[in-house]
Amino acid sequence: MYLKKIEVQGFKSFANKIVFQFHNGITGIVGPNGSGKSNVADAVRWVLGEQSAKQLRGASMQDVIFAGTENRKPLGYAYVAITLDNSDKKLPVEYEEVTVARRVYRSGESEYLLNGTSCRLKDVNELFYDTGIGKEGYSIIGQGQIDKILSGKPEDRRELFDEAVGIVKFKRRKHTAQKKLEDERQNLLRVNDILSELT
Ligand code: ATP
Repeated sequence: MYLKKIEVQGFKSFANKIVFQFHNGITGIVGPNGSGKSNVADAVRWVLGEQSAKQLRGASMQDVIFAGTENRKPLGYAYVAITLDNSDKKLPVEYEEVTVARRVYRSGESEYLLNGTSCRLKDVNELFYDTGIGKEGYSIIGQGQIDKILSGKPEDRRELFDEAVGIVKFKRRKHTAQKKLEDERQNLLRVNDILSELT
């Protein structure tokens, strides 16, 4: 699996639609200070579900929308799509190519798309569990992040290892199952209360 394409439009400094094509191997993005290199990484974080404006170096989530320049009016929405080659089926879907897209309007309305079909953020998250991709994954290492990992709490560091060895999805499923079990226990208690009132 590898990143084949990033498409951005109206995202941060990218007012016009731009398509970055990548090939298997190493690609470097170079450019003068302030030309938008980090915005490319922000675009990938954002499309993978980043919910924190701070992580995207903004004050609010609307800051990802092109804010205009002296010669150009602000835009009304931001759109990012990433396409991954999935011919090795590392992602648990049938498709050879997977495209994840996110769009947000100034009104706050937003949507996620998986291969062109509207989906929930939960679906995007689940698709990438245990792959190292995803907003919590280690596939994007930002400036200062290594220091943060090294000096962080052991429990936080453990999460990285869990992701790398591929047990995150099982832990999440266990958590969901335990929650369901607890809800059922509560229901059972209520049924028993009613039964004892009736008898
Ligand atoms: P450096 O090499 O200094 O780290 P860089 O190439 O990584 O720089 P970025 O930080 O990606 O550059 O881009 C910063 C530019 O993006 C700034 O010029 C900033 O004005 C612009 N920018 C950020 N958000 C928006 C927005 N919402 N609308 C328009 N331009 C934006």
